[in-house]
Amino acid sequence: MTTITNHMPTSELQALDAAHHMHPFSNQDELAAKGARVITRAKGAWITDSEGNDILDAMAGLWCVNIGYGRDELAEVAARQMRELPYYNTFFQTTHVPAIALAQKLAELAPGDLNHVFFAGSGSEANDTNIRMVRTYWAQKGKPDKKVIISRKNAYHGSSVGSASLGGMSGMHAQGGLPIPDIHHIDQPNWWAEGGDTTPEEFGLERARQLERAIEEMGEDRIAAFIAEPVQGAGGVIVPPDSYWSEIRRICDAHDILLIADEVICGFGRTGNWFGSQTVGWQPDIMTIAKGLSSGYQPIGGSIVSDEVAAVLGACEFNHGYTYSAHPVAAAVALENLRIIEEENIVGHVRDDIGPYLKHKWEALADHPLVGEARIVGMMGSIALTPHKGSRANFADAGAAGYMCRERCFANGLVMRHVGDRMIISPPLVLTKAEADTLIERATRSLDEAHAALKDEGLLKAAS
Ligand SMILES: *Cc1c(COP(=O)(O)O)cnc(C)c1O
Repeated sequence: MTTITNHMPTSELQALDAAHHMHPFSNQDELAAKGARVITRAKGAWITDSEGNDILDAMAGLWCVNIGYGRDELAEVAARQMRELPYYNTFFQTTHVPAIALAQKLAELAPGDLNHVFFAGSGSEANDTNIRMVRTYWAQKGKPDKKVIISRKNAYHGSSVGSASLGGMSGMHAQGGLPIPDIHHIDQPNWWAEGGDTTPEEFGLERARQLERAIEEMGEDRIAAFIAEPVQGAGGVIVPPDSYWSEIRRICDAHDILLIADEVICGFGRTGNWFGSQTVGWQPDIMTIAKGLSSGYQPIGGSIVSDEVAAVLGACEFNHGYTYSAHPVAAAVALENLRIIEEENIVGHVRDDIGPYLKHKWEALADHPLVGEARIVGMMGSIALTPHKGSRANFADAGAAGYMCRERCFANGLVMRHVGDRMIISPPLVLTKAEADTLIERATRSLDEAHAALKDEGLLKAAS
């Protein structure tokens, strides 16, 4: 039997990693020179590295370990399912019990008439499914030209060719010839960075109305769908002004287009409801799910679609699918994860207990001299670092403050990511109040240290 044990010193592991393992979203040469941090174990909200450091994981891995690390129930279910039926496909008029049970459970949990699930192996794959699905939907209805999908700049919808095209990350579009045709991006509702002299309410309306202008300019008969994350995650946890979502909803109701909620981060309790679209108050026609669906214990994603979308697609052969669509082990693990979220009332814990507790402390970080705004929805939060609070100034050396702050966090035993000069958190939903206190203490210490270092190095300068 192969067992993977670690009997090598960290430096040797790092050298092998640098020699053979290519990392996502990384400069390989810089990383090789520095050495990747080797994570060996995890329990609850904590990860442990190969040097024995315990680190509070305020990112829940990559926004996904909603129920926390080390839940034996999921390991047991996976082992049982592997013995019973480790794999079978659902292509050729076959199905299996984990696929049926998980699809039924998701139909029960998802709001309104979202009753049909197309499974994928990840969020990227699910969004690729969505591109083909909405275009096929309109073609089936006799409107093959209704195929443009409107998304937003600085949105994140995945890293495959299709999903990265949906996303609005300029750095991703710059490589590999993206985006694919017939994807249109409007501006994001990031008042802090882009609001200028307008009030947040005015700005929210203005950004929402860009959707209406885009629809009118291109013509409703060319627009298939609008896709959005209820709260942008990888873009920096951007919480839109209150005026934004109600206006978006009005516009979508007024025009005949499909609404896709990318719930890959917001789903499964993160915002204090089962789904983020419930928190922001709109009913999608299609939902993208992944990450928290299995709390990251197995790779699985999918699209949950409405009765109407399923009915239209049902009349044709949809030439699409993945070898691992509805993988039985992943499906069984996801189902067990959903059982735990439900039985332990983890959504209620976020909404009524740990969410409000963390919100109170997180928003107080706005008093720190380095912090402009501090925003949080449920268990996803961000702070904007600034050299000058009053004017919402950006740093002259963009991203340096964020990077420095993240490095201080790591040194202080806290995983908090940075997106440019925004610091972001997305901790496990099972975080305790004592852990929330530790998170805030360590974040504050890291901000203090970063502030002092920026001052010393003359980097507290505003962009002109
Ligand atoms: C992570 C993410 C994806 C992509 O999911 P993968 O499983 O990494 O392919 C899509 N949408 C959002 C909002 C995400 O955060």
